[in-house]
Amino acid sequence: THEGTIELDAAIMNGRTLACGAIAGVRTIRNPITLARRVMEATPHVFLAGEGAEAFAREAGVEIVDPSYFRTEERWDELQRELRRESSNAVALPTPEMGTVGAVAIDRRGDLAAATSTGGRTNKRFGRVGDVSVLGAGTYADNRTCAVSATGKGEEMIRHFAAANVSARIEHGGRTLQRAVREVVRDVLEPGDGGMIAVGPGGVAVLEFNTEGMFRGAADSAGRFEIGIR
Ligand code: ASP
Repeated sequence: THEGTIELDAAIMNGRTLACGAIAGVRTIRNPITLARRVMEATPHVFLAGEGAEAFAREAGVEIVDPSYFRTEERWDELQRELRRESSNAVALPTPEMGTVGAVAIDRRGDLAAATSTGGRTNKRFGRVGDVSVLGAGTYADNRTCAVSATGKGEEMIRHFAAANVSARIEHGGRTLQRAVREVVRDVLEPGDGGMIAVGPGGVAVLEFNTEGMFRGAADSAGRFEIGIR
């Protein structure tokens, strides 16, 4: 954050039941995705934020760490650079400083799931929450259409409801998964906004981005194992 603290967002969704869980702005949860899953499985709610989410984590016995656990020199230096840039009013450079991790999966029964976890964007302020924990924006799964996890500028993903937008194009527009993802990444979002990974009920995986690169990988039980950066 702008203040030098670290706040984490995460969400998970089950495509078979539409069960989902999200957390936002937590500082001491070692594995935010685990807490999101507990929200999904052990509360009547779907989205917990800040102090309340931390209190639930303690009750649920989720592993707690000191906030310094998440600090890395690389991200700290990045924040310092960003603060200097801000105070000198320099034009913002394209932001490579994104650290979201997303996963989408299909199991042998054809059930889909999506999960996303992030520290958000460097220099975020005022309790900013990104797309990751906004179900439908950065994370979405529905067995009838697809499972999607997005990375990039969270504000744009929220504005365009990016992940659920893919699902809606399949459900209401008859698009294939590949075409739906391509339309959202290339036509709805602007170049440089980000990318997404998706998998459909048939097991087809799509990895698409409009940034310079996106660390990505795909694997299946038939032996597919691919990774890509640019
Ligand atoms: N989408 C994330 C956010 O806006 C950032 C990222 O993908 O790195 O919080």
